[in-house]
Amino acid sequence: MSDSITGLSSNSVDGQPIEAASPSPRRSRQASVVWGPRTVTVGGDAPVRVQSMTNTDTVDAIGTAIQVKELAQAGSEMVRITVNTPEAAAQVPYIREQLDRMGVDVPLIGDFHYNGHRLLTDFPACAEALSKYRINPGNVGKGDKRDRQFGQMIEAAMRWNKVVRIGVNWGSLDQELLASLMDVNSRRAVPWDAKQVMYEALVSSAIGSAQLAESMGMRGDQIILSCKVSGVQDLVSVYRELARRCDYALHLGLTEAGMGTKGTVASATALSILLQEGIGDTIRVSLTPQPGESRTQEVVIANEILQALGLRVFVPSVTACPGCGRTTSTTFQELAKQIDDYLRMQMPVWRTKYPGVETMKVAVMGCIVNGPGESKHADIGISLPGTGEAPAAPVFIDGEKALTLRGENIAAEFHQLVENYVEKRFGAATVAA
Ligand code: SF4
Repeated sequence: MSDSITGLSSNSVDGQPIEAASPSPRRSRQASVVWGPRTVTVGGDAPVRVQSMTNTDTVDAIGTAIQVKELAQAGSEMVRITVNTPEAAAQVPYIREQLDRMGVDVPLIGDFHYNGHRLLTDFPACAEALSKYRINPGNVGKGDKRDRQFGQMIEAAMRWNKVVRIGVNWGSLDQELLASLMDVNSRRAVPWDAKQVMYEALVSSAIGSAQLAESMGMRGDQIILSCKVSGVQDLVSVYRELARRCDYALHLGLTEAGMGTKGTVASATALSILLQEGIGDTIRVSLTPQPGESRTQEVVIANEILQALGLRVFVPSVTACPGCGRTTSTTFQELAKQIDDYLRMQMPVWRTKYPGVETMKVAVMGCIVNGPGESKHADIGISLPGTGEAPAAPVFIDGEKALTLRGENIAAEFHQLVENYVEKRFGAATVAA
């Protein structure tokens, strides 16, 4: 119990410091997804990778290349495109060529269903231009065709030295496997419930397919697994088991997460639980874009999840208070948004021009209560005047009060101060290098 306002307690302090939470280490094998000189490692000691998927018609090579470029510039380290028809497969080398011409070396992943075995055989230039193939074991064929067609895709991956993702999905689960597991279950003294059988089918399909690929000669470090479902608790259950049973690198994502706030929150919740446990080597946020919303939003959210967990740093962070009755003007909200948008927009250029800039912390605060304190913790921060406070906005740089802004142009002046700070602090790194 606390004995005073200082918080010092007679029985809560046992001499041990409070342990800092951090994600558990991962323990997977490492795959290398390669295009030209660019190698994106997945698993092992590699950082958790961000990937995304286009929603353009792959036959539209220019449109697809442009969207791939946008996704890559937003921070996607691999981009998946659907390869669903011979016409789409024929365009893949041109998409690759366009990207190379634009200086975008992000590896491309081909998403195959039903006819991947034929497309990879009939279109060798497509097989070569892709850096990784996604194979869905539920969609490779039925009966005796299943293993043969799966084998053809694995052979193509070995021939071209590509990584595969064996990606099982709850919505396209191998029905023969599910039926046989249901059958086994019906003979149990105490049958599992249907959901548990489904979990087992997902995990067995992924691991069984990976073992089949290895028996055909594929190396284990060329295989990445995923088992996507659309419920948060289901995803946690399935991935915990998947991680327990194998050490393949894992692609993590909540499938059909939905749109807007719902999709964002569901993805962040599910992925964060698992990433904190060290489960997940590459992530994708499957967000349905809102009308008019950029496809890059899924990359922004994936980056934010990893950054919030302290696993990666992609963009400078903006600390902004939520506002309350002490600041009824919207000035600080607008300034926080402007600064956030500006920093994000600059990152494609800043990443190379100002190494380390992504670690910068900016604070935009609404009043004197937490404003100066939070601003001092940031690299550069501003505390705007709350209701009834003197119309002055102290700016803190590297923890020290540097100046006070006044008048109508506080926003523009602070913007300029941030730009100057970036150039002075992170530009120096370029010169020194
Ligand atoms: S810093 Fe001031 S305005 Fe912002 S939430 Fe705290 S008390 Fe409210």
